[in-house]
Amino acid sequence: METVISAIKTAIEKSRGRAVIDEENVRNVTSAPLNLVKELLVELVGHSKLEPRFFWPCEDGLGTTREATNVSDFPLVIECRRCGKSHHFDAARVEVHFVATADLLIDLSISPP
Ligand SMILES: [Zn+2]
Repeated sequence: METVISAIKTAIEKSRGRAVIDEENVRNVTSAPLNLVKELLVELVGHSKLEPRFFWPCEDGLGTTREATNVSDFPLVIECRRCGKSHHFDAARVEVHFVATADLLIDLSISPP
């Protein structure tokens, strides 16, 4: 548990607060079980240390077409800036990642990016 938290803090420190954290990258550096990593990420959100960011990936696999702080900020249809086609919103395709809150940056003595 401590190693998972310190791995998250190290990633954020190295990126000077710009790191986008997700369960896969945390698991890769800690080899902690996925359910424990998920639980800790949710806990850190509850303690206002991390906040979620939602990413809508291009259906053609060309990367993120839109990013939002709330799923409800996404439109029902988007003109994709990656492929130029229209994509329909599908909650199942949205990816959740996490970024440091101002609170965590203060804990780590990092100026906000
Ligand atoms: Zn697209």
